Amino acid sequence: MRPLPFREVVVAPESVRRALTQMLTRPSPSQSLLLVGMAGVGKRTLARSLAAAWLCPQRTPDGHCGACPVCQKWSDAGEHPDLRILRPDPDQIKIDAVRGVRQWAAFAPTVAPVRFVLLEEAHLLNPAAANALLKTLEEPPPRYHFLLTAPASDLLLQTILSRCRIVRLGALPTAQVAAYLQARCSLPEATVQAIAAFSDGALGRAIRWAEALQGSDNAPRELDALQALLGVFARLGQASLEDALRLAHEFREACKALEGGSPSRSARAALALGLEYLVQWYRDALAMQYPDAPLRFEAHRDALRQLAQRFAAPERTHDLQAIIQARRAILGNANPQLVTENLFVRLLTVA
Ligand SMILES: [Zn+2]
Repeated sequence: MRPLPFREVVVAPESVRRALTQMLTRPSPSQSLLLVGMAGVGKRTLARSLAAAWLCPQRTPDGHCGACPVCQKWSDAGEHPDLRILRPDPDQIKIDAVRGVRQWAAFAPTVAPVRFVLLEEAHLLNPAAANALLKTLEEPPPRYHFLLTAPASDLLLQTILSRCRIVRLGALPTAQVAAYLQARCSLPEATVQAIAAFSDGALGRAIRWAEALQGSDNAPRELDALQALLGVFARLGQASLEDALRLAHEFREACKALEGGSPSRSARAALALGLEYLVQWYRDALAMQYPDAPLRFEAHRDALRQLAQRFAAPERTHDLQAIIQARRAILGNANPQLVTENLFVRLLTVA
């Protein structure tokens, strides 16, 4: 797909949009920019749009012009002679790919004033590739710029982070996701609202569900998977320690169907996404202390109350940290079964 002009890319929060708009008014881009945000929040779309804007010699704060000789070089598949995209194949980025970029960097840009290297899922660089990238970032070839994306900044080497300007993308408010869908698809109001609520503020995910639903009476598989996942979470307030391994198994099974529409998503990424939802669930359980706090899973208020009553707030805070650590371990190289089993044992252990 050709890159969207920056003005058409949905970016949250608003402060990030303003900062990026301001960056586009400068004569040249940052040497290395890292876009951080959860799955489905729009990192890829934004990265392509920014690359297109900076390649275009006639860019404005709205993005690339779409008409100049540089912009005309974009293929329908979203390729450009002055852009190189590296992505995990299938679940890591290897040193050969980074070396290939270094060779490419020996040549001057073809048509644009600069060249861009886009590294998707940069946390999946293997150690050798990460070191090779670091060397390149330390001594960047003239007129070469790097755009990296990752679900969380602490998954990258500190030495790489210190070379990047970090942009943190957030979830969109549910109402904004609903408004976006309403303007662009013909689904009934109630369906749009349901998709928006389940999308967790990740517009990319909401759009995929909406597209899958257009012209079909079947709920997309991913919505079913999310319901199954919430069913597992809802039992945490009542289950006993003996249920831990079974719940861990059901959790992993529900995660398998998550993001079912995306063949490029690895099993690890799906588990990490499931754990992101579990983080939101525990945040909601913590928010139950404040009567008026908005809940992400409002429809599951009773189950959240059970969890909140069973575990005191300090315990829930520690559990939340344990979930975040488990997510990090999954995105690293840890054994998924072991990590999820340990986690559920921990979540069901009453102090
Ligand atoms: Zn242009």
